[in-house]
Amino acid sequence: MTSSEIINFYHSVDTETLSKKANLVCESIYGNKVYLRGLIEFSNYCQCDCLYCGIRKSNPHVQRYRLPQQSILEIVKAGYKRGLKTFVLQSGEDSYYTTKMLTEIIEKIKLLTNNEAAVTLSCGMKSKNDYQSLKSAGADRYLIRFETSDPKFHQYLRGGISFKRRLKALEDLKTCGFEVGSGYMVGLPDETEQTRINNALLCNELELDMLGVGPFIPHPKTPLKTASLHNIELTIRATALARLLLPGANIPATTAAGSLDPLGREKVLQVGANVLMPNITPPDNKKNYLLYPGKICLDESGFECMGCLNNRIATIDKKLSLERGDAKTRLCATP
Ligand code: SF4
Repeated sequence: MTSSEIINFYHSVDTETLSKKANLVCESIYGNKVYLRGLIEFSNYCQCDCLYCGIRKSNPHVQRYRLPQQSILEIVKAGYKRGLKTFVLQSGEDSYYTTKMLTEIIEKIKLLTNNEAAVTLSCGMKSKNDYQSLKSAGADRYLIRFETSDPKFHQYLRGGISFKRRLKALEDLKTCGFEVGSGYMVGLPDETEQTRINNALLCNELELDMLGVGPFIPHPKTPLKTASLHNIELTIRATALARLLLPGANIPATTAAGSLDPLGREKVLQVGANVLMPNITPPDNKKNYLLYPGKICLDESGFECMGCLNNRIATIDKKLSLERGDAKTRLCATP
């Protein structure tokens, strides 16, 4: 189907039909595999002030932390020993970690994992030269979510950062040869169905390799604290639409979906998501990385979560995979 046929289909069918179709498309490409990525939240310092975010710089209630290189490498070592082949290094926009420090960490991860593991970075917008250095050091993938495709709303939400600048960052990453990921929240204040459709169409236009669709959950210590919370249905429909438009992309079942609904991750894995990201940050630190309230799996180590996730997805006839799981974007793009 072309993208306009997909949008017509999206409008004309109920959630069950949409979901079945999205799951079929996903399984035709990825089978019943769910790729595992080890998520390491290495710093909760951020120089930005996004209105929805619990670790925004203006929130004085956050206990800030930075993991030293050695701790990051020890976590990677433990994860690799358990079979993980992708590590996602995530932080706020924290200039304490210079590009030189990051390249050193990436090179050491590659050495530690015999070049087998993919390194994904999610640490904010940088210059094209920085992206190039990180790529040359061995980083494979980079995530920068746009959160909303409405330029005015984007600028408002992100404390003045223009939408154009974020698009430029995504373009630079692609030019540097990264697998590029982005994504958006659903259920933001004043969002319309058309915004959600535009979000998904933009992801298709950007030919993303990875795409995160997560529910907006208002954080009590942010300016959006009184905004309404929507149920998981919006996330389910948005994930299904994303899968139909980007058949070959890797789409995670977000922790936010699991935090909004006890079976949220299972539900989105049945409508096109194919990735889970156990949080292997030390429990003492991860409880301070709260972008939204009610985040699940804070008390246990991410390695314990791997066992739990295995049992959970067996109930929906899916199977965890420890492969690197590169995206198949280029094999199957939607015109
Ligand atoms: S969303 Fe990201 S960039 Fe914005 S305040 Fe939170 S951590 Fe910083």
